[in-house]
Formats: sequence, C-alpha cells, structure tokens
Amino acid sequence: RETRDAAVQAGKLAVLGQMAAGITHELNQPLTALTTLSDNANQLAERGRIDEVRSNLTHISRLAERMGRIVSHIKAFSRKGDAARAAVSVDEAIRQALMLVESRRRQVGVTVVAAPVPADLAVWANAVRLEQVLVNLIRNAIDATAEAPAAESAIVRVSVQPIEKWVRITVRDFGPGIPADVLPRLFEPFFTTKVDGQGLGLGLAISLAIIEDFGGRLTGHNAQDGNGGAQFIIELERVVKPH
Ligand code: ADP
Repeated sequence: RETRDAAVQAGKLAVLGQMAAGITHELNQPLTALTTLSDNANQLAERGRIDEVRSNLTHISRLAERMGRIVSHIKAFSRKGDAARAAVSVDEAIRQALMLVESRRRQVGVTVVAAPVPADLAVWANAVRLEQVLVNLIRNAIDATAEAPAAESAIVRVSVQPIEKWVRITVRDFGPGIPADVLPRLFEPFFTTKVDGQGLGLGLAISLAIIEDFGGRLTGHNAQDGNGGAQFIIELERVVKPH
C-alpha cells in the first residue's frame, strides 16, 4: 500500500510537472492584467476619475481571487494527502479537473463538452485522487485529439450516468482510437506510445490503481458507434443520501 501511495504521489507530481508551463501561463495572464489595471488606476486617480478607479479595483480584486483559486487548487492537488474515502461531488471533481487541463485544451484547440451533472450526485472516492484520474483521462483524450486531422473531431465529451448503485463517468474522444496492439497494454506501467518524452506511461496504470482502490472499475476501449475515437469509463459506487 505504501509503495502504491508513493507511486500515486509520484504520478501526480509528474502530471503537474508536465503541466507546469500551462499553469504558469494561466497565472501570468491575470498577473499582466493586474499590472496594467493598477498602473491605469494610478493615472485615473491623479485625474480624479474615481468611478473608473473603483471599477479597476473591482476587476483587480476578481483577478486576484482567480489567481488565489488556481494556486490553492494546485496546492491541494500536489499535497500528499491521505486516500481516505468520502462522498465526493462528481460535478465538482469534473470541474476541478477541467481547470487543470484548461491550458492544454486551449493549446490543442479542443472543445470539451461536459454535460451538466446534478450537484448532489456523489461517489465514494477521494476528491483529489478522483481528480487525478479525470485529469489523466481528459489529457489523454486531448492528446489523442491533437492527432486527429479534422476540426469537427476536435471534441472531447465528458458524460455522467447514474446506474443503480453506480455512477459511470465516460471520457470520450474522436481521435484515432486505440490500435489493437496497444489495447492489451493500456494499463501497463511505463507503456507509452507518446514520443519525445511527452508521455511517461504512468497515467493509466496509476488511474487503475486509484479506481480499484475505491472499489470501482476503469476500462478503456474504442467507441463502437462508428464515429471512431476511444472511450474510457470510470465506474464508482454511488453515495445515496438518506432522505
Ligand atoms: P501516457 O499518456 O504517458 O502515454 P498513459 O498510461 O496515460 O500514459 O497512456 C498509455 C498509452 O495509452 C498512451 O501512450 C496511448 O498510446 C494510449 N492511450 C491512452 N488514452 C488514449 C486515447 N484516448 N486514445 C488513444 N490512445 C490512448
């Protein structure tokens, strides 16, 4: 268990490392805006244009809040927290994961379509670890999409279905799909087809360990509806709240 926990942590830090450039960009943007807005505010104050100064300050405060949210989220994600299970909001986990992949998404030019999820739909999991799995799956889907030539296939779908005692979260892309010789090795540690050190081959191996630890299932295959692409399905036990 200790070895597995260490691997999960290492995998998480590896993901963060790969995303470092994107995260820096995510913080640099509001930072540049903050500089401009505060410089402007100074000039406006000199001219006595107080209403405009106020509007700049409101804007500044919102940007600082946004940066704070990004930083605290990265802190929470990178912390070596325990893996205790609790009721985790599926909607929240997906939204947080989307925030972490946002810069990569923009870079590839993919539209991520996440269908609305009822806020009270929860699964037995660990919030940070579930996010880690979602980040891995969504990043893989975005990477696969980057290989797809047609703009109309630049879509990744994240959908959620409650099925009796379970909740199924599907991450679907319209990329080239999974070649037959890759399928049996998907979840093998250090197996990657990504070149130039872009992949460590740990994402799916760690994701599987996490989901199995939650008592759930993680599977990956090619979509069967004739539209190509791959889909990865997480199934986790649903938390049923007493009424
Ligand atoms: P990495 O992303 O670092 O390569 P993973 O364990 O996440 O490691 O994935 C292993 C391999 O599985 C990838 O290199 C790729 O070949 C394949 N794979 C994963 N997700 C997809 C997908 N959505 N479409 C096609 N192939 C995929």
